[in-house]
Amino acid sequence: MKPDIPQHAAPADAETQRAHKPIICYPIDQLASPDWSAIRKCRDQASKTDELRVEPRSAGCIHVPAGTFFRISSVEGAQVGDLNLWNANDISERFYSGKTRALHGTHLSTGDRMWSSFPAFRPMATIIEDTLDWYGFDEFGGSVHDVIGTRCDPYTGRLLSGSDYHYCCHSNLTVALAQYLGLPIEEAEPHVHDVLNVFMCTGFTRDTGQYFMKASPVRPGDFLEFLAEIDLIVGLSACPGGDCGDEHTSDKATCHPLLIEIYDPGEEVRSSHVAPPTSKYDRSHGQKTK
Ligand SMILES: [Zn+2]
Repeated sequence: MKPDIPQHAAPADAETQRAHKPIICYPIDQLASPDWSAIRKCRDQASKTDELRVEPRSAGCIHVPAGTFFRISSVEGAQVGDLNLWNANDISERFYSGKTRALHGTHLSTGDRMWSSFPAFRPMATIIEDTLDWYGFDEFGGSVHDVIGTRCDPYTGRLLSGSDYHYCCHSNLTVALAQYLGLPIEEAEPHVHDVLNVFMCTGFTRDTGQYFMKASPVRPGDFLEFLAEIDLIVGLSACPGGDCGDEHTSDKATCHPLLIEIYDPGEEVRSSHVAPPTSKYDRSHGQKTK
C-alpha cells in the first residue's frame, strides 16, 4: 500500500516536470480504418442463423466463422458480460486486452478492433455498432465496455475475502471452454484471458488511480455488435456482479441472462471476406538466425 504522504522531497523543478505535455504512446492514424462500405454491404445481406443464451453466473462458447457478425444483447435486465475470443483453429491465438487498450484506449466502441496475442497480433473482431456510444465519459471518468479490468476470479476473491466463490467470470469461462472443447478443467483454465468487459461502466479514480465500477447504463435491447475478422470461438460470461452497481464475486447482485446472436451474410459473401494477415515481424528479436 502506498504511503499517504510521499517519503521523498520534490525536486526544485517538480512543477516543470509535471507540466510536460502527454504524448500518445501508440498513435493509430496510420492504421487502416475498417472498410465500412464493404462491412455495411455484408451486414445488409446477413440474417440470423444461430443464438446462444448465457444464463446468469455462467458462461457459454459459440463458433463464429470469419466474415459473420455476432451481437451481444442485454435481455430482461441490466447485466454486464466478460468476453473472451480465441482463434477457432489455434486457441493459442487469443484476445490481447492490454495491447488493445494501448492502441484504442481504456474503453472500446464502434470502429475499434480487438487485437490478438503475439506473434499473430492482428484484429480478431471489429466493433460495428454500439447502442451505448451516447454515454461517453462521465464526471468520474467512467465509461462503458472497458479493457482495463481483468475478469472477476476466485483467486482475488480468496485473497481479499478469505472465502471461495465458484461462479466468477474466470471460472465460468474456464468451465464453458472446457465443455466446448472437451478439455479437462485444468487444461482449459490457462487459455482464459483478460476480457472485454461488455456493458460494464468503469474507470480509475482520479485521486488514487484505483479501478472502479458503477451501475451499467445498459437496458434490455442494448447491444454491441462485431464483425468476426477470423474464425472465432466466442466465450461470454454473465458476470455475478449483475449490472456491477454494487458487488461482484458473490451471489448478492441481481443477475440477468445475455444473448449472443449470429448474423451470417451467406457462404458466398462470407468467403469474400479477407482475414487480416498475421504480424510481419520476423521474430528474430535481433538474434542471428542459424
Ligand atoms: Zn465478472
